[in-house]
Amino acid sequence: MKLEEYLKNPDKEKLIDNIFSEIKKIQKDYEPFITISEKESREELKKKIKDREFLGIPISVKDNICTKGIKTTAGSKILENYVPPFDATAISKIKEVGYIIGKTKMDEFGFGTFCLNCAYGIPKNPRGVERSSGGSSGGSACLTSALNFPHISIAESTGGSISCPANFCGIVGLTPTYGLVSRYGLIDFASSLDKIGLMGKTIFEVAYGLTKIAGFDKKDSTSINKKPEDYTDHLKKDVSKFRVGVPKEYFNRVDEEVKKEVWRAIKKLEEKGVKYEEISLPSTKFALPTYYIISMSEASTNLARYCGIRYGETKELKGNYNEFFSGVRGEYFGEEAKRRILMGTFYRKAGYRDRYYLKALRVRRHIINEFKEMFKKFDCILSPTMPIIAPKFTDIALLSPAQQYAADFLTVAPNLCGFPHLSTPCGRAKGMPVGLHIIGDHLQEGKVLQLGSWI
Ligand code: GLN
Repeated sequence: MKLEEYLKNPDKEKLIDNIFSEIKKIQKDYEPFITISEKESREELKKKIKDREFLGIPISVKDNICTKGIKTTAGSKILENYVPPFDATAISKIKEVGYIIGKTKMDEFGFGTFCLNCAYGIPKNPRGVERSSGGSSGGSACLTSALNFPHISIAESTGGSISCPANFCGIVGLTPTYGLVSRYGLIDFASSLDKIGLMGKTIFEVAYGLTKIAGFDKKDSTSINKKPEDYTDHLKKDVSKFRVGVPKEYFNRVDEEVKKEVWRAIKKLEEKGVKYEEISLPSTKFALPTYYIISMSEASTNLARYCGIRYGETKELKGNYNEFFSGVRGEYFGEEAKRRILMGTFYRKAGYRDRYYLKALRVRRHIINEFKEMFKKFDCILSPTMPIIAPKFTDIALLSPAQQYAADFLTVAPNLCGFPHLSTPCGRAKGMPVGLHIIGDHLQEGKVLQLGSWI
């Protein structure tokens, strides 16, 4: 049953009776969870649902978002035993309508595109178990794709971690404008890029979920103070006056079959009256290195706090401080986290800061301006979400880290700019889902959802 139907006449009790056995089956087949949470016992939940306001919606949460009393690891061994004493703001908001069923797998701290860098195992794509669910929110997408019950999945994106797995698993993923959803209680990867967002089987679920979690929060200094709105109001509204831009650079190095399906979707929108124009965004080629320089630089400072003293795992206090810190970090960080700490530190090093990090910030501004110019003329910009269908694990094993990073070249720009974007399934290639990426100007999630609801 879809969430939209459930909300019309919610049989909360029946859902509570069935959801946990269902997700345990899914866990056996596809392994989306790090933790399944039955913290609120069925009896407690049954008491809670007596309250008419409480809708009893099952919620899954990416494991880098703090949940009170439920282990939160960010996919890392260094946080293996961390149980937050508080809820992230987005979680306390969504708990008004639902309860948490579990914490989903992710690449360690969000470092990855295929969910292979999780310290707690790899989720399998329900559309083909020999394939990746995408990263870094692979567990969220895997679960959402496999579960046929009303459900909302809360995920997070730094450079494409919602869109990519949503594309690979054939579901909808919404990344809101930077600052629209509070980051309070989100474990940082790159603070100027991290955004909490949503995944759903339908566009209604993400629009509904966003309505619940968006909003100003004084605990997050980058939070936007904006009047609340009901994002579901935008769905299925007429789009015949819409103008969209289709950047040619976003079709280079994209699989032919993927391109074909994306164009088919664009033509379908044209039948609804949407006017499209081919455009050029020449700075696109700089987006990937810009993203990796900024995100690794910020990650390397954010991860400095895991040193065995204040947060996370520790060891016996021995040797000088360098030996102690290196001992803890060497043991508990995974390979990709170490790579990013080393590279990020290099980019910020005295003498290199101007050459790499500060230059990347200037390029980022340039990319933003280029998009902003386009948004004067177009309501949305369309492209494929990922250049490929979900790859097989055996094929990913052949890729170098740099080749893996390169797979993100379509998703990094909207993330660098903090623009809202939606990935929605728009066809199939070799039996696997293809995603259409709909990008909007800041705070235009309404338009993005409006257009997406026609696909
Ligand atoms: N794949 C990108 C990376 O590895 C994006 C990850 C993310 O958005 N968390 O950094």
